[in-house]
Amino acid sequence: MDLALTGEQQALWDLARDFIDREVVPHSREWDRREAVDRDIVGKLGAVGFLGMTIPEEYGGSGGDNLSYCLMMEELGRGDSAIRGIVSVSLGLVGKSIDKWGTEEQKRHWLPRISSGESLACFGLTEPDTGSDAGNLSTKAVREGDDYVITGSKMFITNGTWADVALVFARTGGPGAKGVSAFLVPTDAPGFEHREIKGKLGLRGQSTGELILDGVRVPASARLGDEGVGFKIAMTALDKGRMSVAAGCVGLAKGALEASVKYALERTQFGKPIAGYQLVQEMLADMAVNTDAARLLVWRVADLIERGLPFGTAASMAKLYASENAVTAANLAIQVFGGYGYLDEYPVAKYLRDARVMTLYEGTTQIQKLLIGRALTGINAFV
Ligand code: FAD
Repeated sequence: MDLALTGEQQALWDLARDFIDREVVPHSREWDRREAVDRDIVGKLGAVGFLGMTIPEEYGGSGGDNLSYCLMMEELGRGDSAIRGIVSVSLGLVGKSIDKWGTEEQKRHWLPRISSGESLACFGLTEPDTGSDAGNLSTKAVREGDDYVITGSKMFITNGTWADVALVFARTGGPGAKGVSAFLVPTDAPGFEHREIKGKLGLRGQSTGELILDGVRVPASARLGDEGVGFKIAMTALDKGRMSVAAGCVGLAKGALEASVKYALERTQFGKPIAGYQLVQEMLADMAVNTDAARLLVWRVADLIERGLPFGTAASMAKLYASENAVTAANLAIQVFGGYGYLDEYPVAKYLRDARVMTLYEGTTQIQKLLIGRALTGINAFV
């Protein structure tokens, strides 16, 4: 694995850092306080090429490689995880799924729109009664002639109240994962409703919604992939999605570390900067080492994908380690800031609140351990 970045990757990383510092960081606290980011950020993310980063050029994207994608995610995670999630879901979970599984017609219709930000996408897998056990979902899609009629509800859906298209997973066959299919559902279809979920601990600026589908009719051409492969589509998307989340966690931890170093050099106690005390340096050193380790795990996933090798277990390892480190690093940053870290005047309290969900979504920490354990032993300990 070559750790040297190409000139293009380095330029992209610099561009991402500049963009985030200009368009995201100055607004982040305000968006968090009022629990809503400005909707025009989506157009800006599209214009700078972030929403189509890995989409092939023929479908309106910039055809970037997976490491470039991770560098962009790292900077987004440093700037504001609420914004990182918008991109992770619209491009990472839905755009990439359409690119992999879509018909030519689906690709030509949706990918240019998702890449430009004209259409935002959401990923509707989780339901009120099925989270980790997503294969047992109960939303139904019933075939009626050339259409499917979809009924059910989805919970905790990122971009849920903003999205123009929802990738909805619904049951077309018998019980279990093999009876699940995937559908691209325009959110303005009759019978489609969404409700905003407010009061989140973190990612407060991000739209998180409940989706209600009451007899939503879509043509059979809206089905993504064959009948019965929906769960495979979801799990394939989540393997790459875990790389996205992990890269965002690296950025979050890096942001917490950068803020801590700056503050520790400025803050004076007992007659000298607190950065000069060994116990403070220990916290900074722990954050730095674990964040670098997380980054290397993330880059390994990108490398495996680029080389066409299996990457699922590596993605689980990266997500598990990077998300737990993000929580620890943000918590240590508050310790470095002392009482000021407890106020939202400074960025570190938000880092901790935003980090907390990273160990929950796209497979909880326990689910990642079960995936890794199954790969090591061959024994399924999920049930
Ligand atoms: P549960 O599955 O009920 O888990 C509760 C606890 O039980 C956890 O600690 C879990 O690890 C543990 N547990 C469960 N099963 C086992 C087992 N077999 N062995 C050991 N421990 C177990 N979903 C989407 O589809 N699309 C989205 O865009 C999306 N965005 C989200 C955004 C936010 C802010 C949040 C909070 C969630 C989002 N989710 C989304 C849902 C998320 O993926 C689920 O919350 C997650 O999968 C966990 O499911 P659950 O909340 O139902 O918890």
